[in-house]
Amino acid sequence: MTETTQHQILIVEDEATLAQGVRDALQYGGYNAQIATDGQQALEMIRREKPDLIVLDLMLPSLSGLEILATMRAEGLRSRVVILTALADEEDILRGFQAGADDYLTKPFSPRELVARVEAQFRRVEMDAGPPEMLELPGDIKVDLARLEVHRDGKLEALTPREADILKYLIRHRDRVVTRGDLLIDVWHYQSANVETRTVDIHIVGLRRKVEPDPANPSLIQTVRGKGYRWHDSD
Ligand code: CA
Repeated sequence: MTETTQHQILIVEDEATLAQGVRDALQYGGYNAQIATDGQQALEMIRREKPDLIVLDLMLPSLSGLEILATMRAEGLRSRVVILTALADEEDILRGFQAGADDYLTKPFSPRELVARVEAQFRRVEMDAGPPEMLELPGDIKVDLARLEVHRDGKLEALTPREADILKYLIRHRDRVVTRGDLLIDVWHYQSANVETRTVDIHIVGLRRKVEPDPANPSLIQTVRGKGYRWHDSD
C-alpha cells in the first residue's frame, strides 16, 4: 500500500456495497475518498468541496450522473470525472464524453483498472499544470518565473509579468506556431485579434534580449515568417 496522497476523490454511487468496494480499491491505491449516494447530495458536495476527481455512477436517485456532470461543467467546476456505470452502449459512452467526462468505465469493472485510470487522470492534471517555475535555458541562463528574475552572465535582470506570461504561453505551446493574434487574445486578453499593433513584436524583442543566448540570432523564440512565433528548446 502506498502513502495516502492529498488528492480528494468523491465516489457518487447509490449502491452502498459497490460504493464501499470502490472506496476500498482507491484506498488500497493510496487515495482518500468520500461517498455520496444521492444525485442532489452529490452535486452539493461537488460545489462545496471541489474534489479533484469524481467517480460517477449514472443511474442515481434525484439527479442522474449526466445531469450532475452537465450542471457542474456549466458552472465551471473542473474536477476530473471518471464515469463508472452499467450503461455500456456506445451511445451512453458518447453522451458521457459529450457532457464532459474524462474517462468511462463499465460495470462489472476491475478495481485495479479503476485505480490505474484514476492515476492516469492525476498524471494528466500534473502535466496540465504547465512549465516549472524555474527554467534552465541554453547559455547557462536561468529564468525564475515565480520571482520574475532572469539570471545570466552572473547578473540579475527583472522580467515583467507580461513577459513571463508570454514565455509561459510560448512554452505551453512548444514547437507549435503561436500567432500574434493568439498572444493578443490569450495573453493581452484583447477581444479581437484585428488590431493594428506592434505591441507583440516589441515584447518579443525585449524577451529575446533577456532569455536568448544570442538575442541577435534567436534560437528559442523562433520567427515563423508571416505567421508568428514558435518556442523551440530541444533538438
Ligand atoms: Ca446506480
